[in-house]
Amino acid sequence: MSGGLSASCASVFDLRTRESLLSAVLLFALCLALVLLMRTTGLISDRLLQLGIVNIIAGLSLGLFCGGTGILSLAHIAFFGIGGYVSAWFTLPSALKPILLPDMPEFILSAEWSLWAALVPALAVVAAVGALTGLVIKRLRDTAAVIASLGFLIIAYLLFIGLKPLTNGKQSLYGIPLDLAGWPVVVSALAATLLFCFAVKSSRTGREAEALRDDEAAARSVGIAPDPVVFRMWVASSVGMGLAGALFVHTIGVASPNTFYLDKTFALIVLIIVGGYRSLTGCVVGAVLISGAEEIFRKTEEALGPLAGQEIFGLFEMPRVFGLTALCFSVMILVVLYWRPDGVAGYRELATLTPIRRLFSGWLQVSPAESQSVAYDVADGVELSASGLRKQYGAFTALDGVDLRVGRGEILGLIGPNGAGKSTFINVMTGSLFASGGALRLCGEDATLWSAERLAREGLARTFQNIRVFESLTAAENVQVAVGIAHPALSRREVEARAIAWLAELDLGDKSLELAGSLAYGDQRRLEIARALALEPQFLLLDEPAAGMNPQETERLKQVLRDVVSRLGCGVILVEHDMPMVMSLCDGLVVLNKGEQIAQGDTASVRHDPKVIEAYIGEEGAALA
Ligand code: ADP
Ligand code: MG
Repeated sequence: MSGGLSASCASVFDLRTRESLLSAVLLFALCLALVLLMRTTGLISDRLLQLGIVNIIAGLSLGLFCGGTGILSLAHIAFFGIGGYVSAWFTLPSALKPILLPDMPEFILSAEWSLWAALVPALAVVAAVGALTGLVIKRLRDTAAVIASLGFLIIAYLLFIGLKPLTNGKQSLYGIPLDLAGWPVVVSALAATLLFCFAVKSSRTGREAEALRDDEAAARSVGIAPDPVVFRMWVASSVGMGLAGALFVHTIGVASPNTFYLDKTFALIVLIIVGGYRSLTGCVVGAVLISGAEEIFRKTEEALGPLAGQEIFGLFEMPRVFGLTALCFSVMILVVLYWRPDGVAGYRELATLTPIRRLFSGWLQVSPAESQSVAYDVADGVELSASGLRKQYGAFTALDGVDLRVGRGEILGLIGPNGAGKSTFINVMTGSLFASGGALRLCGEDATLWSAERLAREGLARTFQNIRVFESLTAAENVQVAVGIAHPALSRREVEARAIAWLAELDLGDKSLELAGSLAYGDQRRLEIARALALEPQFLLLDEPAAGMNPQETERLKQVLRDVVSRLGCGVILVEHDMPMVMSLCDGLVVLNKGEQIAQGDTASVRHDPKVIEAYIGEEGAALA
């Protein structure tokens, strides 16, 4: 390692971390203010207000997983229930326990703990169950994950009913002392949850989860192993749900299986969708809206009760069971999804609103780290090679035995007409696709079966033909994710400073705070290269990096690549249609056509090879000749 980076960045937290911490604090203050206001009006009982806060805690916890990873979970009410039951074991009056839970061991029968103390075993059990179920969930995505989580919910429900010695089954655990969940406990739990969610979201794991949510292939290409990230987010959010469940049963005094099932799951999903589950603000807004709406629907249902079974205007018989709440929730979801697909608060945190930005401009003033040159050394003698590399798609052969090698400081051009198999080659080399035959060697080791994330960690970085940046992360965060993988031990500010330096290297120094998804095309391409370089790779595989760039940008990219290769020594495989660029940069060329390697050698001999000219008949043939 060379090129010391003094950690001269002015801030401990980057802007988004500051925004989300400020939002957490403001949300806490607003919730308190709302509670105080409601208490002075006397419109809503303390119990209902506390249930509102329980909803907020549950919403934040579910949002932590769903928003963080993009995977929808229907299982979380099970954790809520487990938190409720286990905490109740330790707080129920010991006079009641021989009736409700006669088979419990003596230390539980005699326990009459405070809720604070009961939270310890409750959260420990929830975390253990979270870890166990997380082993399955971490391997699943999309629909499979949703269905698996529904499976967990159903199993948990059946266990809540069936495990009578632990739950008293359908008869419920009643008599749970209400006075234990006073305001100090509830308010502290809210503060703790907000801080916990902030900390997890802003942690390395939180950012990696977001990267994964935005684009799993790109995340793996910078060395993020998806499963452990999903697992950690799952366990973290399950613990939050356990806390909410413990507070819940101590607010209503009962723990019964039916409360921990589909209705509550539906209400919670509505909550995060209506609010916007990617931000703390969205989860809190959703919880406040849903708690308010639930109360209004319930009161309406009560008021309409006497009309049940009667005919209205001689046209319509009022049903006995209204299901008004579920109906109205469904309508709410439809309206919100139509009006604002990302929820009322969207992805934004409270602190990003202009008036709040102005008010807290001092705290939100983050001066970017000073840009400086970043450097690392690629060791002499490293080599990346493919031998007889093949890829079949069914009967179709996309790559038919490709042999090449790249060494330190070399740029190898990989060219060929559209559909020749160049991207397939890059994908196979970087582990995005598995080879159907042949071998891949990295620095003397057989890397043919390595995963994309392992190859990335071992020194192989790439960019994609179709740009894959982490769109909802800022440019700096895109690069920070990679720096964090290359240097797991670096402090936050060092990671930030290094990321800014890589951005500066690719002329993106002034764009560090912009969301990657909103950058111009050429900037996104350069951001991908900056992110790849931040891995400090020994080899860089670029799939049409100049596509869509204007001539000035292309010229600048050439300079940067030349500089990177000569200064750092990394080897490059460059797939590119821009022939002048290929000819001026590359030390050697490999030409593919219909999956076959038709030529290789130095640029001068390859460009005059008749087979190459024939393959390139057309515009590019002209460029070649
Ligand atoms: P290039 O990058 O050189 O333009 P590609 O590597 O993208 O070419 O594609 C090589 C060939 O493989 C093309 O004929 C393409 O249609 C085919 N191909 C690519 N991906 C798949 C796939 N997933 N299934 C089947 N055929 C594919
Ligand atoms: Mg391609």
